[in-house]
Amino acid sequence: MSYSRVGVVTGANKGVGLAIVRQLALQYPKSSLNNGPLLIYLTARDKARGEAALQDLLKDDQLKKSKALTADGGLSDVEYHALDIADSGSIHSFAEHLKGAHGEGIDFVINNAGIALNGFDADVVKTTLACNYYGTMEACHTFLPVLKPNGRIVNVASTTGKLDKYSEDIRARFLGSKTEEDITSIMMDFLKAVEAGKEKEAGFPSAAYATSKAGLIGATRALASAEKSKGSNVMINSCCPGWVVTDMTKGKGNKTPDQGAQTPVLLAIQDIQNQTGIFWRNEQLEEW
Ligand code: NDP
Repeated sequence: MSYSRVGVVTGANKGVGLAIVRQLALQYPKSSLNNGPLLIYLTARDKARGEAALQDLLKDDQLKKSKALTADGGLSDVEYHALDIADSGSIHSFAEHLKGAHGEGIDFVINNAGIALNGFDADVVKTTLACNYYGTMEACHTFLPVLKPNGRIVNVASTTGKLDKYSEDIRARFLGSKTEEDITSIMMDFLKAVEAGKEKEAGFPSAAYATSKAGLIGATRALASAEKSKGSNVMINSCCPGWVVTDMTKGKGNKTPDQGAQTPVLLAIQDIQNQTGIFWRNEQLEEW
């Protein structure tokens, strides 16, 4: 089978990520990206969980009813591939696979994978930044060369990454950051302050997840601006899915995973008028 479009979703074995895959298949036929068959890579760090999610998806009633998948006469195929975004080797080996299998490039990557750990100390901060910040940004850089010239990256951040919980100085540093390195230096200062037990004095909240997502919103903005200044037409945005009932929220929330998937899916396959470097929520621009 040859595909006109190819997309990747990370952390797609459950929660918002799995719903993003479903919604991509359901919405693709009427999207502005549709010009023929779509292959969606449902990626997960654990093979058994990824393959089980794919099997469940293939039996999904709504997908069957709407004939979204090629097996039922629709336009989309879904394939499992291993991808652990906290593991450089895994990111690079998947990029090699994409290069080999899709020489013409891929259309979009939705970086949805993320963690929210219990507790707060330097180890929690290191592990959280390694996945939500450094791992996600490494995925961006590694997949960028595999994207088509007008491809898209969507980073699933969070409203907790808004800048209302920092001192005026730190907030000004975030907002004044011109490069990804500037944002990374804020992340490094956060970790140093936590190691010294002085994050509050340094102007940070005692919150690993929120700060990792603030970094992700800032780094997405900086990467989009760097790409734009090189003349690239790639669109790179971040978003919040809303407060979604998943394992991460321990079943709390006011949105279903399908509702949470709407903004990331919009940013991947609908006409967003070339907007890039923006933070979105509820399918609209949102102030950082
Ligand atoms: P879940 O905990 O339900 O799912 C997280 C997914 O990420 C799982 O598939 C998990 O895999 C995967 N994952 C974690 N670490 C890695 C890794 N190193 N490599 C690859 N995959 C990984 O969370 P949600 O579905 O709620 O969250 C999805 C995204 O949305 C996250 O980025 C989260 O921060 C964000 N978000 C969620 C909100 C909510 O209210 N739910 C609110 C705001 C943002 P595994 O099963 O193997 O652990």
